[in-house]
Amino acid sequence: MINLRDEIMLATDARTRAYAKYTEYTVGVALKCKNNKIYYGCNIENGGIQSICAERTAFAKAISEGEREFSHIVIIGGPKDKDPERCLPCGYCRQFMSEFVNKDFKIYTVYDKKVEEYTIEELFPHGFSL
Ligand code: ZN
Repeated sequence: MINLRDEIMLATDARTRAYAKYTEYTVGVALKCKNNKIYYGCNIENGGIQSICAERTAFAKAISEGEREFSHIVIIGGPKDKDPERCLPCGYCRQFMSEFVNKDFKIYTVYDKKVEEYTIEELFPHGFSL
């Protein structure tokens, strides 16, 4: 199994900065690029328009910094101030990520001291593409 120690630490830290005043469901992620840089993000809710998930926050940060090659993402989320639970990307994020990653891009969710591994292909096998 891949060593995800840094990503788990960064995602856990990012989760503490989630802006989740409506759902009180906090998520932190760490997105690792193929050049080994890591971008992290949290969910940012909004009462008037669509909220931004942690996954898209991290991708937006990375892409705007010029990154285009991604290795994997670690997702840690759950009810605010509670231990993480199994947390996988929403449909919107699966579609969003599929624009930028290969079929073997790994998605990890960490909870109960365990790591579950998926590929984007497993979670989103038939995405829309122009
Ligand atoms: Zn999402």
